[in-house]
Amino acid sequence: VKEQGRNDILLYSEEWNNSSLERLTLQHELRQGIQRNEFFLHYQPQYHLSTGTIVGLEALVRWRHPERGLVNPGQFIPLAEESGMIVQLGEWVLEEACRQNKCWQNEGLPAVPVSVNLSIRQFTQQNLTDKIATVLQKTGLSPKYLELEITETMTMDMQHATQSLLELTRLGVGISIDDFGTGYSSLSYLKNLPISRLKIDRSFVRDIQQDPNDAAIVAAIIAMAHNLNLQVIAEGVETAEQLAFLKQHCCDEIQGYFWSPPLPGDQVARILASNADK
Ligand code: C2E
Ligand code: CA
Ligand code: CA
Ligand code: CA
Repeated sequence: VKEQGRNDILLYSEEWNNSSLERLTLQHELRQGIQRNEFFLHYQPQYHLSTGTIVGLEALVRWRHPERGLVNPGQFIPLAEESGMIVQLGEWVLEEACRQNKCWQNEGLPAVPVSVNLSIRQFTQQNLTDKIATVLQKTGLSPKYLELEITETMTMDMQHATQSLLELTRLGVGISIDDFGTGYSSLSYLKNLPISRLKIDRSFVRDIQQDPNDAAIVAAIIAMAHNLNLQVIAEGVETAEQLAFLKQHCCDEIQGYFWSPPLPGDQVARILASNADK
């Protein structure tokens, strides 16, 4: 239990997990939260490693709960997934991220893609492509400025994944594999999926300096991805030493506290405006 212990206890207690009444309460709170606009997005810049230019923004959802205060996604996404509410929440995130990105473009800020995390519940919906097409149409965002992040686990049903990803790439949106290295897939079968980018999970990046195995894994993922013509981004980059290692191994992009944490929209707009080389 961390500093925000109160939230952790409230959301993760045994009773919470076991009692259907509490589950219904959270489900109700989530639904109400969406209606009452208690959710908002932070955006974390993704940087081109060698130039330091911003090449993308990851949208990360936040919940300002009337009683619990600020709740981070790690504390409600799992329960939102369990209850199915993630579909409605995820649709809100998608539309808000597209709307905001288009708005920045209208203000004349440099155009970069926004990355949106998809949950498995959304990914397995039959009409996912239609829904995304509708949001793009409604917000006026060009598909090339939207990227979807899926995890390796979602590609386990190869037939479904291939079909859905083909439809999505035909629509013109980008696809990244999130938390890469923690799941099941092998690069040999990823080569058959229409994806554009791998995101190396931050658990490998964290110990690059101390753990030779992690260093070897990161170096191998970068090399193999490049052989398959995929871009690679490292997540959770916090130190100059990690950055140096990634640079040395020709990682394409980085995302992490070292260059920027996730930020509220107005701060991101300011950073985008001065999207100069680092
Ligand atoms: P993720 O997709 O792997 O997102 C990256 C997480 O790493 C974010 O946590 C971000 O704040 C954190 N992070 C970024 N840089 C650093 C760093 O340098 N060091 C460390 N220690 N952490 C860093 P966050 O925002 O709490 O989100 C946690 C997870 O919740 C996300 O992991 C994602 O799986 C999920 N999530 C967030 N927003 C959404 C959403 O809109 N929809 C869905 N389905 N899931 C979401
Ligand atoms: Ca992500
Ligand atoms: Ca990730
Ligand atoms: Ca992760």
